[in-house]
Amino acid sequence: MQRFNFPVVQPDPALEELRADLQAFLKEERDADNFKPEPECWMASADPEFSRKMGKRGWIGLTWSSQYGGHDKSALERYIVTEETLRAGAPVGAHWIADRQHAPMLIAHGTEAQKLDILPRIAAGECYFAIGLSEPGAGSDLANVKTSAEKVSDGWKINGQKVWSSGAHISHYMVALLRTSPADGRNRHVGLSQIMIDLSLPGVTIKPIVDLSGDAHFNEVYFEDVIVPEDCLLGDEGGGWAQVTGELAMERSGPERFLSSYITLETALRQLSGKMGSDSHGRLGKLIANLRTLKGMSWAIANLLDQGVSPETEAALVKDLGNRLENDLTLQVRALLNDLPSEDWSPDMRRIMNIGVLRSPPNTLRGGTTEVMRGITARQLGLR
Ligand SMILES: Cc1cc2nc3c(=O)[nH]c(=O)nc-3n(C[C@H](O)[C@H](O)[C@H](O)COP(=O)(O)OP(=O)(O)OC[C@H]3O[C@@H](n4cnc5c(N)ncnc54)[C@H](O)[C@@H]3O)c2cc1C
Repeated sequence: MQRFNFPVVQPDPALEELRADLQAFLKEERDADNFKPEPECWMASADPEFSRKMGKRGWIGLTWSSQYGGHDKSALERYIVTEETLRAGAPVGAHWIADRQHAPMLIAHGTEAQKLDILPRIAAGECYFAIGLSEPGAGSDLANVKTSAEKVSDGWKINGQKVWSSGAHISHYMVALLRTSPADGRNRHVGLSQIMIDLSLPGVTIKPIVDLSGDAHFNEVYFEDVIVPEDCLLGDEGGGWAQVTGELAMERSGPERFLSSYITLETALRQLSGKMGSDSHGRLGKLIANLRTLKGMSWAIANLLDQGVSPETEAALVKDLGNRLENDLTLQVRALLNDLPSEDWSPDMRRIMNIGVLRSPPNTLRGGTTEVMRGITARQLGLR
C-alpha cells in the first residue's frame, strides 16, 4: 500500500515580507473600493485591470523562468500569493486558470515558440485561458470526449462542443482535450490530444450559462469547422491523456477549495466581535482547526511541487476535504450568526453570505466530483 506524502515544512520567515506586501496591496485596493470581496473569487470574480496590477507587481508567473516573463521564485512563494488573494476574496478570476495550470503545462509540453509568445503575456496578467475538458457526454468519464480535431492542409479542423467552460467568455485561449484519432479497441485513452484554441477564431461560439446566483461565469463552447494552425498542438499528438492527468493535479493541488469561503468567516467574525455566545466557541474552534490542518496539507503540496513531484493523490485528498470544509464553513457561519439579530448584519455580510450560499452547490463537482476524488484516494490506499 502506498502512503500519502505530506512533508512537514517550516515556513521561512523571509516569506512573511511577501505576505505583508500582498496584504498591504489588497487592503489598499479594497479601501479604494476597487473590489468587493466575494466567496469563490478565483472562479467567479474576474477583473482584467486587477490582474494587470498583479502582473505588474510580479505576482503572476512566480515560479517560471524570467526568460519567459516569470520571476524564478518557489512554489511556496506562489502559495502565499494564492492564499492571501483567496483570503481577501479578490477578483483574481481572469488570470487564475492560466497561471495555475496552463502556464505550467506550456512549460512542460510547449514548444519554445509557444513559451516565448504566450508565457510573458500570462505573467503580465493580460492573457487568459479556459479549461476545455468537459462535454455533454464526458465529465467524470473524460475519455469519452467526442469533440474532434482532424488534420487538414492548413492545420487542424475542430468540431464539437465543450461545456461548463469557466471564464471562456473572457479568455483568449482554451486548452481542449480532443479526439485526434480513434480509440485503440477498448483503450479509449489512446488518440486524445490537447490543442490550444484561439477563442476569437471564426466558428467558435460561446454561450453563457447562468448559475443560481444569477452570474454567468461558465459557458457552453461550440466549435464548427474551426481551423487552427498545426503548431497549436500542445505536447504530443496522442499524448493528451497523460498530459491531462498532470493538468488535473495542478488544478486540484492549491488552497482554492478550503479558502473559497474564508471571506465569509472573516466578515462574520468582524461582525460578531464581543457578541458571540459561549455555545459558538466550540463551533468556531472546530472550523479553525480544520482550516489549520488543510493549510498544513496544502503547504506540504506546494513543497512537493518545489521538489518536482506531481502530487496527484495528495491533491485529490485535499480537494475532497477542502470541498467538504468550504460548504460546511458557510453553514457553520450562518449558525454563528444566530448570535446576532439579522437587522444588525452589515450590507457586506448579507451580500457575502448570499453569494456564498448560492455558489456552494457546484463546489463538489468542479475539478472532479467528490466520488471521483474518493476513488483516487481509495486506489492510493490499495482499497480498489
Ligand atoms: C462551477 C463549475 C465549473 C466548472 N468548470 C469547468 C471548466 O472550466 N472546464 C471543464 O472542462 N469542466 C468544468 N466543469 C465541469 C466539471 O469538471 C464536471 O461537472 C465534473 O467533472 C463532473 O462531470 P459531470 O457534470 O459530467 O457529471 P458526471 O460525470 O455525469 O457525474 C454524475 C454523478 O455520477 C457520479 N460518478 C460519475 N462517475 C463516477 C465514478 N467512477 N465513481 C463514483 N461516482 C461517479 C459523480 O460523482 C456525480 O455525482 C465545471 C463544473 C462546475 C460545476
